[in-house]
Order: sequence, then structure tokens, then C-alpha cells
Amino acid sequence: METKDPYKLLGVKRDASRDDIRGAYRKLARKHHPDANPGDPNSESRFKEIQHAYEILANPEKKREYDEGPRTFFGGRGDRGAGGGGSAGGGFSDMFDSFGSFGDVFGKSVRRETQRLKGEDATVSVNLRFKDALEGVTTRVGVSAEEACGDCGGSGAAPGTSIKRCPDCSGRGVRSRDQGFFALSEPCARCGGGGTFIESPCSGCRGSGRVRKGRQVTVRIPAGAKDGMKVRVPGRGSAGRKGASAGDLFVVTRVEEHPVFKRRGDDFTVEVPVSFVEAALGAEIEVPRPDGSTVRLRLPAGTQDGRKFRVRGAGAPSVKKGGEGGDLIVEVSLVVPTKLRRREREILEALADERDEDVREELFKKAGSS
Ligand SMILES: [Zn+2]
Ligand SMILES: [Zn+2]
Repeated sequence: METKDPYKLLGVKRDASRDDIRGAYRKLARKHHPDANPGDPNSESRFKEIQHAYEILANPEKKREYDEGPRTFFGGRGDRGAGGGGSAGGGFSDMFDSFGSFGDVFGKSVRRETQRLKGEDATVSVNLRFKDALEGVTTRVGVSAEEACGDCGGSGAAPGTSIKRCPDCSGRGVRSRDQGFFALSEPCARCGGGGTFIESPCSGCRGSGRVRKGRQVTVRIPAGAKDGMKVRVPGRGSAGRKGASAGDLFVVTRVEEHPVFKRRGDDFTVEVPVSFVEAALGAEIEVPRPDGSTVRLRLPAGTQDGRKFRVRGAGAPSVKKGGEGGDLIVEVSLVVPTKLRRREREILEALADERDEDVREELFKKAGSS
């Protein structure tokens, strides 16, 4: 006789996770359901075996008992592994007794149901001054979201009345539809699968258990926050239905533009005017940083207009913990004097004589002009 090892029956390994076990069970239960195998007399007993196997492996206590020592789970007598199927005597009523688990197989999954009851996420934006975004700030934002109704405490039932078990499905959330000898389960239409039914709905929330309200939420904006960044505040979105968990609040940052510093990632760029004499001779200049301090920068002789210098670590702090901060990119903007005093003009004319250069020679050569 075949060994009735529940692991073998479900085709899972001994260290399979609960999800794996459930997944294997669902697949097999669908495949071997007698409704799916009309005319196959063996499908009933196979289906029952699978169900028993799942009952053991899905129940932590039974699973441990099975894993730890020889017990009788099949057949009602004899040692584990020796029992034959279908001799327990319960017959089909056993199967119907455990129909609760059918909701799991044929109905909506429990996880999807919790997902449906979870409160919605809320999104608001917050305007930040440049300095606050850079240094980080704790601020308050106005949020309009669903909250548990104060009149009924979120139950949806009028004060003094109670929530009844759904009469159509006896609170199970699923109904068995007869199909010949067997039955299939489907979500209960009356209660939407929730299993409950409100006789007199709360007037404050019209039975939904929630009301939309505006409130202030305190949020910490991390130092170095960028424009358009989403800061998550867990559990401060809309309240969940029927005690399910609340959604999250997402605060989108809107950072004011700075007249001088432009942000690129964690770096900032700044255009710094440099006189043509400084550029030609080289100079050590002072450059402003986004945080209000300054940093010294050495320009080599012959610095060209538009040249960029990177000052490491002088940009924005990283919002990631332990992340490296950004850099400051200094772009040189050459300043040519618009007015010259007489003495200055003489010096420049002398310089022109001295250099006697044709700076466009290369250009004309490349352009092909003669
Ligand atoms: Zn209410
Ligand atoms: Zn119902």
C-alpha cells in the first residue's frame, strides 16, 4: 500500500514554506476536485487525501506532531503510512465539514482581502525654502484623509447597536452553491465577503466606519532633500476598514529655486565671475557654498571661460544614511571690462603690440577661407 506522507501527497519538500504548501494544495485541490473529474471514482479519495495532508501541514501543531514522531493521521488506525484512504468512516460529511477551507481554495485569497481593507495612501506636497531643504526641517502638512468615525468607533454600526453575522453566509464570507452532489464556494453577495452585516448604520459615516477629515501631520524632511522627493510617513494615510492597517502618507517636496545654486543630483553648480586678468595670470579666489559658507579655489594661469572645477564635498548632504554628500561644480564666467581708464587702455595696447597674435588663424585654416 502507498505511503501516505503528506509532504509526498502535496509534492512539497520537508522545509517548504507555508506559502509553498498552500500553493501546492490549491493546485492539487483544483485538479482533483470531484467536480473537475466527473466519472472518475478515484478522484474523491484522492481529493480527500490531499485535503487531509493539507490539514496537517497547514496546522503548526499537527505539522510538528507529524514531523516529530509516528502518529496516526490517515485511515484512523494503524501506524502512519499504513492506513488506507477512505476508511475513516466519516464519508462525505467530513469533506463538507471542512468547507471553510474551500474559501481559501476557490474564493478570494485572504491576503487580497486584507489588501482591500487597508487604508488608502495619501499624497500631499510641501513647499520648502532652499535652506530648509538643504539642512533638513521638521514641518507640518495639511492632509485630507479618511479617519475612523468618532461616532461609531469605526465599526459603521449606529451607537448602541451591534454588527451582526451575515445571515446569508453565517459569517463565513463565502457561500456554497450546490452543484449536484458537491458544492462550490463563491464570495457572499450580501456582505461582499466580509462576513458581517450592519443592521442600523451609523449616521455619522453612513455605515462605512470612516469619515473624511483634514488634519495636520508633522513630517521630518531629511537634510539634502531634493525637489520632487517623496518622504513616506508610515500609517498616516487613510484609516483602514474594519480594523485593517492604515495607508501611508507621502509628502512630495517642492524646493524653492535658488538664484545662484542649481542642483543636479547631490551636486550643486554655481557660475562664478572671473576677471580676464585673474584667468590669464591665475588666482586663488573665494567661492560661495550653498550652506552659506565659502571655499577657496585655485585657478591656474590660462583658465578659459566656461571651465568647470569640482570642489569635493561642498554640495548637498546625502539623504541616504551614510551616503556621501555631493560636490560643488564651479563654472568660470569670464568678465571683460566694459570701461577702461586711459592708463589701462595704454597697458592693453602695449600688450597687444607685444603679443602681435592672430587668434583666428586656426579658425580660417579649418574653415578653408584664404
Ligand atoms: Zn460611524
Ligand atoms: Zn455574507
